[in-house]
Amino acid sequence: MRCIKELSLKELKEWLKSTNEPAYRAGQIFHWLYSSCVNDFTEMTNLSAPLRQKLTKQFEISPLRLVNKLGSFIDKTEKYLLELPDGQTIESVIMPYPRRCTICVSTQVGCRFHCVFCASGRNGLIRNLTQDEIIEQVVLGKREGHRITHIVFMGMGEPLDNLDNVIKAIGLFNSPDAFNIGARRMTISTCGIPAGIRRLMDLRLQIELSVSLHAASDELRSRLMPINKQYPLKNLIKELKEYINQTNRQVTFEYILIDKLNSSESDALLLSRLLRGMNCKVNLISFNDTAADSGFNPPIASDIKRFQATLTAEGLKNTLRDSRGGDIQGACGQLSLSAKQ
Ligand code: SAH
Repeated sequence: MRCIKELSLKELKEWLKSTNEPAYRAGQIFHWLYSSCVNDFTEMTNLSAPLRQKLTKQFEISPLRLVNKLGSFIDKTEKYLLELPDGQTIESVIMPYPRRCTICVSTQVGCRFHCVFCASGRNGLIRNLTQDEIIEQVVLGKREGHRITHIVFMGMGEPLDNLDNVIKAIGLFNSPDAFNIGARRMTISTCGIPAGIRRLMDLRLQIELSVSLHAASDELRSRLMPINKQYPLKNLIKELKEYINQTNRQVTFEYILIDKLNSSESDALLLSRLLRGMNCKVNLISFNDTAADSGFNPPIASDIKRFQATLTAEGLKNTLRDSRGGDIQGACGQLSLSAKQ
């Protein structure tokens, strides 16, 4: 059966027309689906009983099943294990803060880019998520009682490798008829695919763009992120300068700090030189161990401090991301096909 969340407002209006129902019902249905987040057409009490019946006959309401929910003892982070209609599983993470609540959504089952430090790509790409599978992660978070204010496309998968569906999802998140979340409260994180960055630039979506850099030399970045062999730093940086120029927006660079690999003072200087003059900031993330055999470790606290201090002294804006949900394998790079293992 077709999931109703595959339909845009316009498509839903057309469907209503085809069954002799007034088009304004579409707005009411959207409100039930994305604002009240109900899980059954019978709960849509301002619709007529015949319309509710028609909807129940024609459509499913949710493409995801919440299989497991883990709550962190350290912070209030929650991790959801979700089953898709074909039995595949994905994860999403909710991070409540005092005045906002961020959800980290997945965009693919697995990932094709094989960054060596990341658990999500270990088994390669299985498939793209559909638009409704992406948005339903937020619906489930809301249904669990969270007032979600921010969305980051930083879960499993590479958003720019599934850009059509990600763009459709952003449209719904943004829409006053659906989630009504401002574009500036959404962040796409990418391993750096120039064609995708260009498309985002042309769309002028006002979203935040985050680029996973992790190394300031081609030699090291290619070792950590195989995509760098295809699009070396020179190309990536050139594309991003164009993006910044055209959109007038700041770009964030994610930089995982790994002990004895990319976290020395000279690495910090190299990074500062690479990004000099760009409207950007660096978000440092201490490496999260995803597997016993990775061979990587996070640096000690004093090394992290020194790295940060060097960037600051070089005039490069930076923040250190507080890692959340570490005890539930919910931290960066830890989302995986855990149910299958
Ligand atoms: N494919 C996208 C989004 C998913 S990864 C991307 O590459 O940006 C989200 C972020 O988590 C990226 O910055 C990624 O590099 C980072 N990450 C992956 N594995 C990690 C690990 N083991 N420790 C810390 N951060 C990690």
